[in-house]
This record gives sequence, structure tokens and C-alpha cells, in this order.
Amino acid sequence: SANGSFDVVIIGAGPSGAVAAANLTRSGHNVLVLEKQYFPRFSIGESLLPQSMEFLQQAGMLQAVIEAGFQFKNGAAFANKEQYDFFDFREKFSPGWGTTYQVQRAQFDKILADCAVKEGTEIRYGHAVESYTELENNTVQLHVCDDQNNEYDVSAKFVLDASGFGRVLPKLLNLEKESTLSTRVSLFTHVEDRIGLKDFDRNKILISVHPENSEIWYWLIPFSNGRSSVGVVLPRSVYEQHQDQEDELILKHFITQTGKMCESLTEAQFDTAVGKLAGYSSDVTQMSGKHFALLGNAGEFLDPVFSSGVTIALKSASLASAVLDKQLHGEQVDWLSEYEQPLKLGINTFRTFVEGWYDGSLQTVIFTEQKNPAIKEMISSVLAGYAWDTNNPYVNTPKRLHVLAQLCQK
Ligand code: FAD
Repeated sequence: SANGSFDVVIIGAGPSGAVAAANLTRSGHNVLVLEKQYFPRFSIGESLLPQSMEFLQQAGMLQAVIEAGFQFKNGAAFANKEQYDFFDFREKFSPGWGTTYQVQRAQFDKILADCAVKEGTEIRYGHAVESYTELENNTVQLHVCDDQNNEYDVSAKFVLDASGFGRVLPKLLNLEKESTLSTRVSLFTHVEDRIGLKDFDRNKILISVHPENSEIWYWLIPFSNGRSSVGVVLPRSVYEQHQDQEDELILKHFITQTGKMCESLTEAQFDTAVGKLAGYSSDVTQMSGKHFALLGNAGEFLDPVFSSGVTIALKSASLASAVLDKQLHGEQVDWLSEYEQPLKLGINTFRTFVEGWYDGSLQTVIFTEQKNPAIKEMISSVLAGYAWDTNNPYVNTPKRLHVLAQLCQK
């Protein structure tokens, strides 16, 4: 029968679910992953940060990722009108990986999930979790419905919610809290890019700022197969002014207003439907309970501007699997001080950087001509995902960013 009882049930087989599953299975626990969709499936979030390589390595997945032949990435470039500057992530303050990849998530997520299966994890695709009940015998019961409408229950000692924007437990347990970040709309697609510009650097994500409205920004993420992910992020009010048009026209309209990005895409073939995500920033009142913890996007999601999503998701999986391993071995653990607080340290670094992006101070720092190389390496470290390295003054006291912006304006 499909019924069963497990040490750990994980909701969702995206990056956070797959990494937690592989780690816990390798530690000897009996892990089931329930995934609503079938892989490969599309997901947004294609630009990784070097810090994520460490968590892939820990989970035993790095070789498979390297061998997939994804687009090499060594930094991030920023453009605004005639201004252009970039960070090379190998020139950074913190130790660790300085390069990573730009990945088609359909393929990337399947590789991670397959690695977890090779480790011995069971993944049931097409199975959605619909309810969560704590039982008196110190276990949890989940109600599951598969895509043939078969319904059944599974029980677990502990549940990890890795359901991303599905936010299964925040919804079921009423943990959702409004994000302090503004509501934005993102439009995106994949194109056959045909980028002919000689000086175009495929090894970096290109972030462009709208020439008149610095709250509007774009990404161009080249892949290794001649295709690219392109997208725009708009304040909701700006999107609403254009809502009578089709999303593809709105995306193209805004791209024509950029300099370098528009020039790069003059020959691009728009051959794929345009996707839209709105109001994706989210927060929760708590990230763990007696029998559960929230991973990745099922917890807090900030903003896509610094490509921090997958890195935070993998960091959460790495921290949570270590705490849960101890707990399942009968040790006393404290999820608040061993999971939530350490995770939030880096999330809060990124939060200050995201706020600094939208209030203009970080854009000032990025585009200033008078850069101090030592400070540039500290900023580069955070942008490379080393947002948990408290040796970095911009992690230890992220508000320094605003002081730095004022200095740059002098
Ligand atoms: P996901 O990868 O979302 O996986 C969740 C899985 O759970 C899905 O497969 C889903 O099918 C499954 N699921 C949902 N509900 C259920 C259910 N009831 N039962 C069973 N399974 C369920 N991040 C980056 O790192 N780089 C970027 O460049 C980047 N760009 C972004 C651009 C935009 C516009 C947005 C909105 C986000 C971006 N992100 C980026 C963030 C990134 O997409 C996420 O942070 C990342 O995918 C989170 O991974 P995850 O493992 O938490 O969840």
C-alpha cells in the first residue's frame, strides 16, 4: 500500500527539499519526499551564487551539477544608461567558492532530486500534501492526494516544508505574515538570445536599471545553449498602468527602454510564453514548531534582485538537516537558536542589501567611480552569497551600506 510511516516527510522536491532529503537519508533516516508536480518542471530562479556550491558539495551533488554543463558564472554585472560595472566573485573578502552556474531550473532541480534518490530517498511525484495533523503519539499525520485522486495518509516524526511558493504549512497552520517589502510584479521568459555583441560577458548575470525609474530593473541570464532567461521587475502600480496589454508586449516594451540589454537582444527570438509572478515577497511568524520546520521559500522570501533565493534555500536545508539529525538521535535541540536565528542572520544581510537597492543607496555604491578595492571585495562577498560570514563588516553591520553610499555621493 502507499501508506507508511517515516522518520521525516519532506513537502516538495525543489532544491531545499532535495538537499535536506539527501543529507538526512545519508545520515540513516527514513525519508519520504512528496512532490506535487512531475520533474523536469519549470521554475524561476536560475542564477546561483558561489556560496550555494558548498551546500551542493555537502549534499554530494556537486559533481552531478558540474557534469551537467551549465553556463559558468563568475560574477554579476550592472548597467544603468551609460554606466556599467561588475563584480567578479573570485575577488571577494570571504573564503570559499568564487564561481558557480546559471542553470535551467527544470534540469537543475531534476539533477538534485535524482541525486537524493540515488542516496536512497523515496520521492513520490504527482503527490500533493493537503493537511497536517499532530497526533497524540508524538507523530504527525499528513493527508496526501495523488494526481489519480487517490487519497491516503502518511505519518512522520518530523515534517520539513520545502514547498516554495506553495507555502503549504504557513497556509495550513496560519503562519503567514505580510512581508515589509513592497508588492512587485515580475514578467519573464526564455529566448534564443543570438547575442552578437563582442564585449558581452555570458559568465555574468546582467542586471539593468530602468533609466528613469530606479525601482524597475531587469535580468539577463545567459545559459550555455545559446538561450537566455530575461525578465523585468515592476512596482505593481507601474504594471497596472499597462495591464490592458499582453504580458509579452509589456516585457518587450520595457526591454526597449534599456541600453545594453536592449542592444544585446536585438536579434533575440521570443519563442516561449511569458510567465508572470506577483506578490512573491513573504514572511512567516515562526520557522519551526514541535514537529516541523520551514525551508527555503516556504519560510521567508525577500526579493529576486541579488539571486539569493536558491542559496538561502540550500543554507536552510543544510542547517535544518543537521539539527534534525541530532533530534532524531535523541539529542536535545533548540530550533530557534540552532536553525531560525542562524538562518536569519544571512537573510537579514540580504534584506539590508535589497532595501538598499530599492532606496538607491546600493546602486550608488555599485556605480560609483571611486571604489575602494577592499570595500569592493566585502560587497562582492555578500553578492556572492557569503551573507553569513560575520568577519565581513557588511555582514556584521549591514547598515554600513548606507554610510558607504553617503561617502560615494561626496
Ligand atoms: P521550489 O524550488 O519552489 O520548490 C517547491 C516545490 O514544492 C515545487 O516543486 C512544488 O511543486 C512543490 N509543492 C508545492 N506545493 C506542494 C504540495 N502541496 N505538496 C507537494 N509538493 C508541493 N533565486 C535564485 O537563487 N536566483 C535567481 O536568479 C532567482 N530569480 C528569481 C526571480 C523571481 C521573479 C522570483 C520570484 C524568484 C527568484 N528566485 C531566484 C528565487 C527562487 O525561485 C526560489 O528561492 C527557489 O526556487 C526556492 O527553492 P525551494 O526549494 O524553496 O522551493
